[in-house]
Amino acid sequence: MKPFLFVTDLDHTLVGDKKALEQLNQELENHRKVYGSKIVYATGRSLTLYQELTTEQSLLNPDALITAVGTEIYFDSNYETPDLEWSSKLSVGWNRDLVVEIAAKFEDLVPQQDSEQRPFKVSYLIPEEAAKQILPQLNNLLENENIKFKLIYSGSEDLDILPLDADKGLAVKFLQNRWKYYSQETVVCGDSGNDIALFSVGEERGIIVGNARSELREWYEANKTDYRYFATSFYADGILEGLRFLNFL
Ligand SMILES: [Mg+2]
Repeated sequence: MKPFLFVTDLDHTLVGDKKALEQLNQELENHRKVYGSKIVYATGRSLTLYQELTTEQSLLNPDALITAVGTEIYFDSNYETPDLEWSSKLSVGWNRDLVVEIAAKFEDLVPQQDSEQRPFKVSYLIPEEAAKQILPQLNNLLENENIKFKLIYSGSEDLDILPLDADKGLAVKFLQNRWKYYSQETVVCGDSGNDIALFSVGEERGIIVGNARSELREWYEANKTDYRYFATSFYADGILEGLRFLNFL
């Protein structure tokens, strides 16, 4: 057994089955102690909603926490300030105020709660049918302003507008560089659209939990390779199944 970089989404991936989560926690904590593996949580939640989740679920203290869809990285449970090197990378070509101004032109875009609006993330709710119509128009308007941005639509309702160089996958690349892990020593786990960035950024070993949302299922079917595993089991059980299949545990 060797150290590996374990990265997982939280909602409906790591979290969803408390008993399975306990089991996975034990195995991962043990691996970290014995082999020095690193544990990273990568979530769409803000730090505020992450901290709320830690009061409801038994989570480990991660070596790094990626929040707000990859726009903030915190190390070693120091939640005072996100990593400055990462923040300064994201600020290039980003204009938050202008993004908000342009998005306000679309009535169907309903702003998410204040805690989810972050310096490098502007978030809305929009149902799938409306999204199909509006997202291309929004995309064009933002492009015309030369903003370096990307749109991420997830879970059939969440729209995030982020700096071009921000997403969960690019945040993982940043951690790999800092800690010196290769793609084949990295495993990423997810269940929905904002996790596609985790799976597509390189050749990281991937686990898609059995309960994955349609957008990720479809992406998996269209991009099959032998280093990604679609688990039969759900939530943390699916992760355990995948870690065994990929020979990490
Ligand atoms: Mg999720």
